[in-house]
Amino acid sequence: MLIVKKFGGSSVADAECIRRVANTIVKSYKEGNKVVVVLSAQGDTTDELIEKANEINPNASKREMDMLLATGEQQSVALMAMAIEAMGYPVVSLNAFQCNIYSTSTHSNARIKNISVERIENELDNKNIVIITGFQGINRNLDVTTLGRGGSDTSAVALAAKLGADVCEIYTDVDGVYTCDPRIVKGAVKLNEISYDEMLELATLGAKVLHNRSVELAKKYNVNLVVRSSMSDAEGTVVKEEAKVEKMLVSGVAVDKNVARIALIGLKDEPGTAFKLFSLLSKKKISVDLIIQSIGRSDTKDISFTVTRDDFKETIAILEENKDSLGYSEVKTNTEVAKVSVVGAGMATNSGVAAMLFEATFDAHINVRMISTSEIKISLLVDEKDADRAAEVIHDKFINTGIKARE
Ligand code: ADP
Ligand code: ASP
Ligand code: MG
Repeated sequence: MLIVKKFGGSSVADAECIRRVANTIVKSYKEGNKVVVVLSAQGDTTDELIEKANEINPNASKREMDMLLATGEQQSVALMAMAIEAMGYPVVSLNAFQCNIYSTSTHSNARIKNISVERIENELDNKNIVIITGFQGINRNLDVTTLGRGGSDTSAVALAAKLGADVCEIYTDVDGVYTCDPRIVKGAVKLNEISYDEMLELATLGAKVLHNRSVELAKKYNVNLVVRSSMSDAEGTVVKEEAKVEKMLVSGVAVDKNVARIALIGLKDEPGTAFKLFSLLSKKKISVDLIIQSIGRSDTKDISFTVTRDDFKETIAILEENKDSLGYSEVKTNTEVAKVSVVGAGMATNSGVAAMLFEATFDAHINVRMISTSEIKISLLVDEKDADRAAEVIHDKFINTGIKARE
């Protein structure tokens, strides 16, 4: 079998972890498999590198940030190869440049476009274990890019798709995908299977157990994807086209704390105002999430929206630069907010979900600041301090009490 195994930062945090993972890799190799391994940077390395950069230049260009952040993954692949060498097995570590992992040019948030896998295939044919840097790519100028936080999952799935791997195993510090982050909700339940679509929603709404683009790619190329623990042999969660789960009204709850809210007060109440605002942001590749527009009073209105905290500073700078053309009177901001979302295909046909959700937050005295709904999800914006409790009460209401969808 050809197997792609990805290990996240906490799984390779120190020498002991690296040796444990090296054993897992070698065991699979000795069983006769071709093994390709994708690694993240060790432990908190990526955060530490960001801090280091901030000490020197808090406004560093994204290109130079990518040059710096990509070094974290390069360290872990070399160290892992050394651990496997020490065990006496043939191994080679490679970075994105050596593996031709071509991406778009958007530094800090690039997308993989193409991988030419000859080098990897040659190494496998020569009986080598191949250890590859996650998270990084190269653009058409051969500059280093990174794929966004958590992007090593996407490197692994893209490689699995391109190599035609039999399975792509994502090893992490939990033993699978749960109905909510088990660190936030103690009663979260492990799922044996989840569909690509539901996993994609959960990942996009903040369940960082998988990078959302990795799920998108897995669905597109029908990659056999498994999430499992690097610490135990427990069976993981299979992510697949059709999951055999009870038809629950809600399949999961996700919390996203990487959210900032911005309100523009006193905008002109005329056609084109929202267009002007959001096209300015989209030109700078800033994604806007929740949006609320107030009912106009006399000839003005207010628009509130959320962006990621990573984009907050840049968004404010753009708004200030364009104050005259946008014509608002005041900007109000809040970076201590979080988004709590419930996901479930069963919601589309059930009208009671929103009411139940608000009952749960009302009973817990949690103030809801913004709301957004779609066919299979409802998101609430709450104060960050209330977010974990909101997830807990919502999870309790929908999942622990086992409310099933009406057919
Ligand atoms: P890695 O470093 O291995 O990539 P991450 O920290 O990126 O690990 O992702 C694993 C973490 O995702 C878990 O420790 C858990 O706290 C969090 N998580 C969030 N939502 C979920 C969920 N629904 N199921 C499992 N884990 C989740
Ligand atoms: N090291 C990167 C990060 O911390 C990529 C990853 O872990 O997937 O975001
Ligand atoms: Mg991750």
